[in-house]
Amino acid sequence: MRHVVGWCCVLWLALVARAQDSPVLCRICQSTGVIPCGKHGKSLAAELASAGVLHCSVVTDCKVCIGALASDCKQCANATAEGELARRQQLAREWLQQRRQTIDAVTAREPFLHIATTHFELAFAMKPAMVGKEKIDQHARMHSYAQRLQALRALFLQTLELTDADLPDRLTVVMSEEAKDHSVLGPRLTGIGTANSVGLKLMGPEYVYSMWNDKRSLPDDDAVHRNLVHNVTHLLLSQMKPALWLGNHQHGWIDEGVAHWFEDAVVGKCTNFCFEEILLQSAASFKGGKWRTAVRAMVDEGKAVSFASLANDNTDQLNYVEHAFAFAYVDFLLAARGGAKFRDFVRLVKADQPTRDALQQAFGFSTLSIDAVFLPWVKEHYAPPGR
Ligand SMILES: [Zn+2]
Ligand SMILES: [Zn+2]
Ligand SMILES: [Zn+2]
Ligand SMILES: [Zn+2]
Repeated sequence: MRHVVGWCCVLWLALVARAQDSPVLCRICQSTGVIPCGKHGKSLAAELASAGVLHCSVVTDCKVCIGALASDCKQCANATAEGELARRQQLAREWLQQRRQTIDAVTAREPFLHIATTHFELAFAMKPAMVGKEKIDQHARMHSYAQRLQALRALFLQTLELTDADLPDRLTVVMSEEAKDHSVLGPRLTGIGTANSVGLKLMGPEYVYSMWNDKRSLPDDDAVHRNLVHNVTHLLLSQMKPALWLGNHQHGWIDEGVAHWFEDAVVGKCTNFCFEEILLQSAASFKGGKWRTAVRAMVDEGKAVSFASLANDNTDQLNYVEHAFAFAYVDFLLAARGGAKFRDFVRLVKADQPTRDALQQAFGFSTLSIDAVFLPWVKEHYAPPGR
């Protein structure tokens, strides 16, 4: 009998504890203990982990939810839910404090918004802009760039048939509206002190791209998008295992060709050169960025750049025409023969195999025989001017 009474007591205590902890019926919160924060309106979906967002400074600054996107239900008590809420708020606070120290404190200005996604840290001070037919504010524009960065990484993985393990590092991107912010932040974050640059990159072991919106070369949101795709592709290609920046290892054509290829694939033309002097010669325009036609015309005129003459230069040794042919050779190898072969080729080259051996092993071409296949391919696939 005493045994039965004992069990009843235990059962009753358990029921009381449960009623206190999580009442069976709280209509306010459906007994979850939390209610969604009402301050984020239509943008709530864009802030969620399911959208790839880990933290956003606008949400972290929310006085109601402090970054948790939910607040405590006052109608019921739920210790587990309250603990989880406090933990998320603490994480968000620590993240934002660290970002403000790294970015805002360096510029002594406070125009930056911050966002952390699954693979990127983005600091954003660009103004509202027309995107398509819509004018979007700074916060929405930051989210659009965060999504574009995530989409680029996904496309890079898919195109080269890689897995997440091939791109193990987080990337930092800083987009300033004004030159004076980039001119302080760029050198600080990349360790490269070039004055008057539009963008600066750190190609490892940390991966950083800092830029400002120079309206001469980046007149609209599309141009900024192309600039971002081009430069972040350089970071992705460099961190792809085995990590190495090819641009200063006599493989400038791969470094630039791949960056141009993704620029074209995502935004439809190529207008970024990674070489400030070229950039300044004309408003970042070579044949209007439509390079397939330009390459076809040069091939027809017998002015094609041979693979052998392209294959040993560093990135900063390439001129306009060589950039266009680097793009075309990558297009020929990557688009026509598939990402897996190109991935294997890049891995071999990064592992210090000479280009001629890697080309033979991955594609079956020699550095001399490739032109004989490439030139007819261009004539077959690239439309001549005027068509
Ligand atoms: Zn409740
Ligand atoms: Zn946000
Ligand atoms: Zn909130
Ligand atoms: Zn480049």
